[in-house]
Amino acid sequence: MDKSGYYGQFGGAFIPETLNATLWQLNTAFAEVKEDSSFWTEYETLMSTYSCRPTPLTYAENLSSHFGGPRFYIKREDLNHTGAHKLNNVMGQGLLVQRMGKNRVIAETGAGQHGVATATMAAKLGYSCTIYMGEVDVARQRPNVFWMQQLGATVVPVKDGARILKDAINEALRDWSTNMDTTHYVLGTACGPHPYPEMVSYFQSIIGMEARNQILSQAGRLPKRIYACVGGGSNALGVFSGFLEDSSVELVGVEAGGEGLETNKHASRLAYGHGSVGVAQGYKTYFLQDEDGQMLETHSVAAGLDYIGVSPILAAYHEEKKIRFEAATDKEVLEATRLVMRMEGIIPALESAHALAGAFREAPQMNADDVIVINLSGRGDKDIFTIADALGDATWKSFIATKAEEYSA
Ligand SMILES: *Cc1c(COP(=O)(O)O)cnc(C)c1O
Repeated sequence: MDKSGYYGQFGGAFIPETLNATLWQLNTAFAEVKEDSSFWTEYETLMSTYSCRPTPLTYAENLSSHFGGPRFYIKREDLNHTGAHKLNNVMGQGLLVQRMGKNRVIAETGAGQHGVATATMAAKLGYSCTIYMGEVDVARQRPNVFWMQQLGATVVPVKDGARILKDAINEALRDWSTNMDTTHYVLGTACGPHPYPEMVSYFQSIIGMEARNQILSQAGRLPKRIYACVGGGSNALGVFSGFLEDSSVELVGVEAGGEGLETNKHASRLAYGHGSVGVAQGYKTYFLQDEDGQMLETHSVAAGLDYIGVSPILAAYHEEKKIRFEAATDKEVLEATRLVMRMEGIIPALESAHALAGAFREAPQMNADDVIVINLSGRGDKDIFTIADALGDATWKSFIATKAEEYSA
């Protein structure tokens, strides 16, 4: 990365002038803590006493024998507090807010997971918290909205535009430019203007540091490959960062192939060349857009991967061919989910199941004693509605219908 936050041609900070001062302040504060080893120690202590870090690396013996190799190791971010890797980033930014002397945090959220993580951090560290969410998403993600409110956050339904994530981003930016003296904008993935991509992947690098030590001590060697799902790119960058210097380790990012790449219903920006370079939401990267730069609609069974942009850091690694990108379809993802539940007793988030699906597809071409690591970014409890629907579970359907009747009575 250069000084202005470019990774090759990607990244930068394309922001309204009103935000210059606050981004500069964030840059300075982050640059200071990066040089201050007591900050990382404080962060590690918080994460180990509040959020189950280090998360385990599990040898998936049944899956390994099912496929006849390779040896599958699963990094268990599903066991992190709030059920995913998201808290790693959010708690790190929370500690930085303390150093900047601010007392309020805001965030935008689509699926709601980042909103829940941010509301959790605000409760724990004592900040007031406002979460912006498109009105359509508020209706779709009622359980997450409920928990954000119980955790003390104000959830603002955004009624502008299509009333989805991008409209919530605009509203959050408006709030930030009005209240930047007291308020920090907590971005949820390794996207957006500099220094967010760098800062978010810095906090997520805790995954890769742990995983590298764990695989060396458990398998006695480095893995042949590492698989991670890619939405904005933060969990992938987190786990990959531990292995970037190891030229023998192949890094594989798995995007949302949705209903198939021959349809328009997917969110694959890198794997098969569907994205093109553009500037939006404050940074330059590959977006899913038409020739006029209008953003396209995306689709995935996993809400957390359903995103038009991708981390500028991953875009640069893609161009350098340092990371290989693939895409898994909704169908492959549901099959992978079912298999890992039955064989290992682990319920993966549908996002994370993309990484599993990518690995399962390639397993037959690997040797029995090859070692691979899969980053399981989160747990699947949140996906109960989607999974039950997809599996066509009749008992679940009648349970929902009975509940609905109870409420309307
Ligand atoms: C949000 C989310 C993702 C996608 O975000 P990245 O920044 O690409 O990691 C993946 N998995 C889970 C479980 C999530 O909640």
